[in-house]
Parts: sequence; C-alpha cells; structure tokens
Amino acid sequence: MNTSIIELKNVSKTYSTAAGDFPALRNINLTVNSGEFLGVVGKSGAGKSTLLNMINGVDGLSSGEVIVNSGGQRVSVHELSEDEKARWRGKTMGVVYQSFQLLPMLTLVENITLPMDLAENFKPRESRERALELLRLVEIEEHADKLPAFVSGGQQQRVAIARALANDPEILVADEPTGSLDSITADHIFDVFSRLVTERGKTIIMVTHDMGLRGRFTRSLTLTDGELEMEVTAAAKPKRSRKQ
Ligand code: ADP
Repeated sequence: MNTSIIELKNVSKTYSTAAGDFPALRNINLTVNSGEFLGVVGKSGAGKSTLLNMINGVDGLSSGEVIVNSGGQRVSVHELSEDEKARWRGKTMGVVYQSFQLLPMLTLVENITLPMDLAENFKPRESRERALELLRLVEIEEHADKLPAFVSGGQQQRVAIARALANDPEILVADEPTGSLDSITADHIFDVFSRLVTERGKTIIMVTHDMGLRGRFTRSLTLTDGELEMEVTAAAKPKRSRKQ
C-alpha cells in the first residue's frame, strides 16, 4: 500500500533581493510515498536546494503547506516555530549535503554520536555502539577513530550518511550528495542510498543536476525555473510513431 509520508501543497517561495522579488519555487504540488527513492533533477539555479529546505523546514515558505507524516505524527512543518522545527528535524529527517559538513575536530565516530547526544535518544555508551554499527553499515568502521581530514571525500560522505541515520529517521534528504565525488565513488555512494531504501525501508529524496541518474531512482521529477514537471504516467506517454 502507498502511504504518503511528505505532502507539498501549492508551495511557493519568493526571495526578496535588492533587485526585487525572485520566485524560486512556484506552486509545487508533490506527494512522496513511504519507501520511495525520489530524484529531483534540474539545472543549477532551478530551485532544488530551496525545495529541500522547504521539506526539512530549514527555510520558511512564502505560501502553501508542507505536511510530513512520520513516526506516527502528522506535522504541518510550516506551522512550527524555529525551535520546534529544529527538534522535529533532529528526529524525523536526516540531511546529507554535497560538502559532507563533518566537524573537523571530531573523529568520524564522534561526528555520529554528537547528534545522538544532542537528541538524548541514547545513553552515551549506547551512542558509541550505535555509531560504530552505522559506520559498519556504510562500510567504514575501520576508520572510526580518525579525523575527517585523514579519509577521502567518498569516505567522508559515507560518514555523513551514517550521521544522517544517527537518530534513526524514516526520511533522508540529500542535496547533490555525489556532486563533488569522482564518478566511481559517486556510484558507490548512490548504491549506499539505494540499499537504505531497499534494505532498511528509508524514504529518500535526492536532488541532483546529473540527468544521467534519472533512471536509477524509483521515481524522478524535473524541476525547471522553480516549477516541477507534470508527471507523465506510462499509459499517458505518447507512443512513438513507427517509421514507414
Ligand atoms: P539549485 O539548488 O537548483 O541550484 P537554489 O534552490 O539554490 O537552486 O536556487 C534557486 C534560485 O533562487 C537561484 O536563482 C538562486 O540564486 C536563488 N536563491 C537561492 N537562495 C537565495 C537567497 N537566500 N536569496 C536570494 N535568492 C536566492
């Protein structure tokens, strides 16, 4: 059964700039079902990061509604205060960025225990055990006690994925997570996300400018100048006319 986990209703976001108002998202309607690996593909400046920031509540929308139905709670994200949003995000949604954003003075395992300790979901002893398990899941446990500077970019991104899983969220959002990696490493990272969907039942939304990834998501949508393409179902697609 398809259970909707994220709903965007008529979401618009306009930035006020010195040059005037800039509409970054226009009337976005989107339903994401539990267990989907949704790819949102678009060129630079299309509004992809803005869209993720509306979903995870990092930035406020100008109009519309964002509803997230996770962990038995149906939350209207746009109605939460900043403090409520931060607490809600910490337990509901893991976020992965292009630039990894690990804390350089903490070891890999400490980068993962930190969000657990902040959320106070686990006792300190448990949080280290759990962090090591997550590092095992992303196949980098042997480097647990190194600082980020001593491992490669691909390895740092694995740690960032483990960190996003720290408080066991149902949902991950990833902003160009393979964007600064070479193609082979990017492929490995993509596989880690795919396995989290198929083997762990996570729901993932990934934005990317890489059109070549389109066929590898369970569903992909294109964002162009702040507008999401209409979805075309297989039945509605025009048949290619046969050459005479
Ligand atoms: P993408 O992630 O697809 O590259 P973004 O969501 O980052 O696109 O940006 C979409 C558009 O909104 C761009 O034209 C960008 O310049 C503009 N934009 C993004 N953030 C801001 C901001 N804080 N203030 C003004 N304009 C912004």
